[in-house]
Amino acid sequence: MKRLIILGSTGSIGENALRVASALRDRVQVVGIAARTGGERLAEQAREFGVSHVALADEKAALACKGMFPDGTSLHVGAEGLVDLASLEEADVVLCAVVGTAGLAPVMAAIDAGKDIALATKEVLVAAGEVVTQRAAETGSRLLPVDSEHNAIFQCLGDRAAEQSRADDIRRLILTASGGPFAGRDDVDFDTVGVEEALAHPRWNMGAKISIDSATLMNKGLEVLEGHWLFGVPLDRIDVVVHPQSIVHSFVEFNDGSVLAQLSPPDMRYAIQYALTYPERCDGGLPGLDLPSMGMLTFSEPDALRFPCLALARQAGEAGGTLPAVMNAANEAAVQGFLEGGICFSGIWRTVSAIMDEHDVISAPSLAAIVDADCWARARAIEMIGQ
Ligand code: MG
Repeated sequence: MKRLIILGSTGSIGENALRVASALRDRVQVVGIAARTGGERLAEQAREFGVSHVALADEKAALACKGMFPDGTSLHVGAEGLVDLASLEEADVVLCAVVGTAGLAPVMAAIDAGKDIALATKEVLVAAGEVVTQRAAETGSRLLPVDSEHNAIFQCLGDRAAEQSRADDIRRLILTASGGPFAGRDDVDFDTVGVEEALAHPRWNMGAKISIDSATLMNKGLEVLEGHWLFGVPLDRIDVVVHPQSIVHSFVEFNDGSVLAQLSPPDMRYAIQYALTYPERCDGGLPGLDLPSMGMLTFSEPDALRFPCLALARQAGEAGGTLPAVMNAANEAAVQGFLEGGICFSGIWRTVSAIMDEHDVISAPSLAAIVDADCWARARAIEMIGQ
């Protein structure tokens, strides 16, 4: 039995994780759930799964829903509440599916407590990959990727997924990208395109932040960096290929030229279930693929000129130090700025690029220096968007 904590249980990944837990009640027990503001839904989940520890990151939301939780529930409050929940004695695995670097402190706490991390929040590794992976190696906590592409690679690596030396015979990782709503749409003007069009992802039903990141291709840029930290493969051996059908979730090319892939319908429960049952597989009621009904699977090169975020992320990854954290935080703020109407769609990468240019990179930064760089970039982006 795996005892599971879900950070971000009311979001898209969190809700899917609860569906997986519900299908695997003899293997997975949910012992803690956390959300940012959605207290009402959190209380429903607590009742349905008999969860006794809950956390709300937003203090006002916590105050407003105090009476909603079942008797005997411990309510942890604020950013500190998430950290408390993540290090709970009675948990084995912490699934982190909160938005952005808000996941960093709770993930570090869970790693310090030696728990396994099922990681959906890629921003944690983008901003602080070196610190996080080093600490995990020290405490023996395993990083189990939930991001569908990295979960696919993890599956392709099979029994060797947890080995340190696994990069030796990997020639290339090839991440698939759906391309988002604007792939191949040369008619769309990125200075005027609306929020709703950018949010309308053709394949995946996801939260707002990741949907916009998919539309700019920043999501894939972040995933290149995430793949580097998870699998120890150099950035120049991680490629991206556009695959609009989202059936092949990624490829691993080995040094003998063989390429392995993992396929499934575009549904996050496959990745979540594998992360929670690894190294075992079990029947959680998910269907396989009906190949003849799928038609063509296509692959093409991403349009680097039209989608500059991919190159910005690589540039940040190659410079290293605090630049990836700055790039990521500027992007989080810029996406928020776009969603609120403060900047246009192309303003997202213009903001990110300008802030990266302004930043004096600190190499081999401590966790505190990374957090400072994140705060600086966020504040600078908000200031820029306000002008
Ligand atoms: Mg992904």
